[in-house]
Amino acid sequence: MALTQPIDPPDTEPPAEESRVTPAMAQYVEIKAANPDCLLFYRMGDFYEMFFEDAEIASRALGIVLTKRGKYLGKDVPLCGVPVVRADEYLHRLIALGHRVAVCEQLEDPAEARKRGSKSVVRRDVVRLVTAGTLTEDTLLDARRNNYLLAVARARLSSAGDEARFALAWIDISTGEFRVSECEAASLSAEIARLEPGEIIVSDALFSEADLAAYWRSLPVVMPVTRDVFDGATAERRLASFFAVATSEAFGPLTRLELTAAAACVTYVERTQIGQRPALSPPLRESAGASMAIDQATRGNLELMRTLAGERRGSLLDAIDRTVTAAGSRLLAQRLAAPLTDPAQIARRLDAVATFTGDSTARAETRSRLTAAPDLARALSRISVARGGPRDLAAVRDGVLAAADLARALATRSVTPPPQGGRKNLPAEIAEAMQACRKPDGMLAAELSGALAADLPAFKRDGGFIRDGYDSSLDETRALRDESRRVVAALQARYAEDTGIRILKIKHNNVLGYFVEVTAQHGEKLMAAPFNGIFIHRQTLAGQIRFTTTELGELESKIASAADRALGLELEIFERLVASVMAESANIKDCAGALASLDVASALAHLAAERDYTRPLVDDSHAFVIEGGRHPVVEQALSRDGTPFVANDCDLSPPPESHAGRIWLITGPNMAGKSTFLRQNALIAILAQTGSYVPARHAHIGVVDRLFSRVGAADDLARGRSTFMVEMVETAAILNQAGERALVILDEIGRGTATFDGLSIAWATVEHLHAVNKCRALFATHFHELTALSARLDRLHNATVRVKEWQGEVVFLHEVIAGAADHSYGIQVAKLAGLPASVIERAKVVLAKLEQEDRAAPKGFEDLPLFAVPSRPSQDARQPAEDLLAAALAAINPDDLSPREAMEALYRLKEQAAKKA
Ligand code: ADP
Ligand code: MG
Repeated sequence: MALTQPIDPPDTEPPAEESRVTPAMAQYVEIKAANPDCLLFYRMGDFYEMFFEDAEIASRALGIVLTKRGKYLGKDVPLCGVPVVRADEYLHRLIALGHRVAVCEQLEDPAEARKRGSKSVVRRDVVRLVTAGTLTEDTLLDARRNNYLLAVARARLSSAGDEARFALAWIDISTGEFRVSECEAASLSAEIARLEPGEIIVSDALFSEADLAAYWRSLPVVMPVTRDVFDGATAERRLASFFAVATSEAFGPLTRLELTAAAACVTYVERTQIGQRPALSPPLRESAGASMAIDQATRGNLELMRTLAGERRGSLLDAIDRTVTAAGSRLLAQRLAAPLTDPAQIARRLDAVATFTGDSTARAETRSRLTAAPDLARALSRISVARGGPRDLAAVRDGVLAAADLARALATRSVTPPPQGGRKNLPAEIAEAMQACRKPDGMLAAELSGALAADLPAFKRDGGFIRDGYDSSLDETRALRDESRRVVAALQARYAEDTGIRILKIKHNNVLGYFVEVTAQHGEKLMAAPFNGIFIHRQTLAGQIRFTTTELGELESKIASAADRALGLELEIFERLVASVMAESANIKDCAGALASLDVASALAHLAAERDYTRPLVDDSHAFVIEGGRHPVVEQALSRDGTPFVANDCDLSPPPESHAGRIWLITGPNMAGKSTFLRQNALIAILAQTGSYVPARHAHIGVVDRLFSRVGAADDLARGRSTFMVEMVETAAILNQAGERALVILDEIGRGTATFDGLSIAWATVEHLHAVNKCRALFATHFHELTALSARLDRLHNATVRVKEWQGEVVFLHEVIAGAADHSYGIQVAKLAGLPASVIERAKVVLAKLEQEDRAAPKGFEDLPLFAVPSRPSQDARQPAEDLLAAALAAINPDDLSPREAMEALYRLKEQAAKKA
């Protein structure tokens, strides 16, 4: 059942003249041919073996030994294998490298195969395709992140094909979540960036589309699949049949395109899971504008989920994540990736957080109860695809019990009003969560508790997971297995007594199994009436005669298979328990979701209390007022060193009677804190719309529908575009897309090119933002010239970050104030950075000359003394005018000057320089 068309016919294909191929090899070749796009894990006893090219690929990827076994068509067959018990570890590495693995199991006992004849091969088939987007094992997954399989379908809107719409459907098979949405071509990459899918499937046709090819290549795992998977005509039927409903209308209104993408997802899941049907929730539609649009570059730039270096540590998520469960952590990440745009929904979440900020006892109790709650969703999902073990059943039991307890505890708190006017009525989100926590049938937990032993093995095949006393036939079988000797001994004693033969023995060997043995003379007695009715002769040896009895035969077979039977009975009980769990799966899933949302609400409250965050006001206005805002990540990093973070205000609200937001133009030297200020305001908006409290004294935010953040001269060499090109492409996207509700952060745009180009572009960009986009914007720049724009543009506000010059050094105060920076202090910063003194001196000279020429009439760059810089400044090489200046400079001792004297000295020097020039 190949999902993709084989690109090359596999070289393992059986040849026409099948010259001496063993039956086992023929079986391998057949199975491999059916799964050409996967590495084939071929089960042989305790190993998964790989052959031919698969073996070569795997041995390279895993660093395992490549050997040979036998010949195929006259050539050696390369082989490598991994032990079944360690298969997960190897799978993990192969999947991470972008491979797909078909797991082929033995479907019968080798003994059964032998019954069909000595040459017959054990029946085998692929039971599962392991792909990056369809994993369920904890060992293969990051507990704190969702792992999505995403299907992308496209519909052309015009016959020319230049306009298209896309539908996305994504499933986290490990939790059962299933969503669909539609988007325009322009927001496709932003949507994919938000979801960060583990695997993307698209139709062959879409995969080979010329203008998307480069984009697909830039994503980690994109899998082209055959057309039928994305067939619109059969989509509805396939989807309905997966969920065993009559029509897809059961899922609410989905567009045809959404149905196509959703059906592609379930078809792919069915084909990879081969007969197992995971407990997916019905597809839930997400409307396009429901979340803040944040493109990939902005996400990366703001380091939402990970830092630019790719680490979770140092990201916004890491800084705010105080959840105590993996499911809570996943939900928080999901919410942070898609901040809401509906103020009512946001308020709902904030209300939930407020419940716990207002009641620290409830918060602590909730968090401690949650700590004990296992990952219900993932356990349930493994159980649903027959990959669950005894511990997953225990996880369901413990999760369900923890949820019920938590709901009860919260209910008691809500009837006794907390001191100091805390709220008595629980907000909707908490009330709903409590209800969902109580949903699973109480009998289920009781049934699981009654059945499961205290210590549970990892795998059901290990047995021993059913409690003694739960099932009488299991107890009996186990007793037989464990006490076989005692049972045999008791039988021997009885026979000895009945026959009067004291030396009668029951013995065991591999040929006869259990038998009764007496001496030859006693044997005669047993072969005569009345004993010959019980004892059946088996064997006569020199001194002994051996017998069996019906009872012993029965005991024998009971004992021989007791272990097997015990395991078999346990597995039967396991399946019964699984059926009970699956009958409650929808309720369990809701309960899991409720636990996660309680975790997020209480964790955000914990964060707010710990770091002094406040509840933001988010509404439909275009306001943007932050008082005493802080950068959530930088603040925490600084506090670890005991450095305080300087809080800053920001107000981008439109003037009265207008919707057009303000633009703040921030100038100031390097290292002053411009970038930090820009980002903190964007992060506060994200946090607020995520439904979190924010690091500020006060925050009022009119919903932001799109967020853009760009840094000049970002490095994007990987995609082969010059950094300046990238900067311009990204700036273009902003200027073309940002509307009145957008928030735009531009940091040093125009730095990637020559000064005047850059300045002109920055200039025009500010004008465009002001006149056309009319959005709220923060623009940090090193082009002081831009500050002049505020005279012409009424909504442009100049701000700068305060620095103090003290004894010739700059001191950064990190305080954002109105006004423009007087100069850029670049040389002082360079000095701080430890540039050689001679370079600093020379730079000062050049600066003086540049500034004075600039004032006269700007010339081309070649006129600037930049190119006259001697490699090593020496007295002789200096020009006369500069000599004088240098002498004047040398006469000044900055440490002895007051700021006023310093300024005067500077003016004098400049005058002097102007004369000499
Ligand atoms: P710029 O963009 O102006 O060059 P940054 O924003 O990169 O400056 O800030 C430089 C450093 O200054 C930061 O790494 C941080 O340690 C510190 N800093 C910035 N803003 C603040 C602040 N408000 N309070 C305290 N330290 C700050
Ligand atoms: Mg900066």
